[in-house]
Amino acid sequence: MSVSLPRLLARPWTAVLTAAVVLASGFTAMSASGAESGCRVDYSVNKWTGGYTAQIKVTNLGPSVSNWRLTWTYTGDQKVTSAWNATVTQTGGSVVATDAGWNGALATEGSAEFGVQGTWRSSDPAPTDFALNGVSCGGTGTPPPTTPPPTTPPPTTPPPSPECGTAVICSDFENQTGTTPSGDWRFTAPDCQGTGKASVDTTVAHSGGKSLRVDGGVGYCNHAFVASTADLSSVGPVLHVRMWVRHTTALPAAHVTFVTLPDSSQNGRTLRVGGQNGALQWNREVDDATLPAQSPAGVALSRPLPTGTWQCLRFAIDTTAPKLDTWLGDEQIPGLHADGVPTHDIDQQWLARTTPPRPTALRLGWESYGTGADTLWFDDVAVGSSPIGC
Ligand code: CA
Repeated sequence: MSVSLPRLLARPWTAVLTAAVVLASGFTAMSASGAESGCRVDYSVNKWTGGYTAQIKVTNLGPSVSNWRLTWTYTGDQKVTSAWNATVTQTGGSVVATDAGWNGALATEGSAEFGVQGTWRSSDPAPTDFALNGVSCGGTGTPPPTTPPPTTPPPTTPPPSPECGTAVICSDFENQTGTTPSGDWRFTAPDCQGTGKASVDTTVAHSGGKSLRVDGGVGYCNHAFVASTADLSSVGPVLHVRMWVRHTTALPAAHVTFVTLPDSSQNGRTLRVGGQNGALQWNREVDDATLPAQSPAGVALSRPLPTGTWQCLRFAIDTTAPKLDTWLGDEQIPGLHADGVPTHDIDQQWLARTTPPRPTALRLGWESYGTGADTLWFDDVAVGSSPIGC
């Protein structure tokens, strides 16, 4: 491996790069080449939470060419958003960079440099499979093929494990004793207590023989929650939440909530997951913003929470930017997606507040603000800094 030093870019990107350096959490450089391969690549990346820039130098080790095309594969979820000194396109994890015209000719041992800027969410490992005009830059020692290899589909990332062993919260409720939540879970009625109640259920479970049951009543004073004692303040930078939930009554037209996350960026007020207009929604207590917007088009981009069956519900909450994602089973719900770019009917209102959330705790339960009662069960609940599968 050789290491390339980063080069400052004397172009409009400088401002972006300067900001990146301030936030930089890591700088790495890697190269790929082989004695019998057709090329050498130095890929120097400057990354920070959620984004990166990379300066790429490709050296032609084969016969001279009049145009070049460099390809590589991202095995993480990096996405190129712009480029300079090359035209760069991306399909899945496969990236294709072609010369900018003026820098297309490469003699033997000649090189060209270009750069990309991009984003990433959950992982950004070093790129692999560099190839120049179809000839691998890898150091395997195999002779370059005489014809370009067939295009291979991008690799599929294995789904994260459903196991949550080292996560901050990893609870199947099997260690609960008695019917009153205890140990790592405590009953709480944050506002006032009425008929809402919560208990450990030994008749309905997603795993094992126990789950958490919530009997939620109509009205503000019938709030009933069970709070994890875990402190989530240092989980991140992306907070990954996975839970299995089963409920009885379809989400009502009125606003209801069944998960709350006290949020230090809202002075302890909560991020809420619940429903409105019959579909799942996020709501922010401090300004009552909803995700999606409660327009018919926005609601249509969310999903109901099916009744009578266990559902795997997952969230990824970015604590460094006002971004979050939500999955029901394997589907990422388009209306429950905030990506920092205001989209009408989805996250335009949500992004009016630019302070990222900083959840500190997790509560499962029920609160309704007008109408809406429900009986719910929660099981196999996990919160950690890495994605957790269903
Ligand atoms: Ca269980």
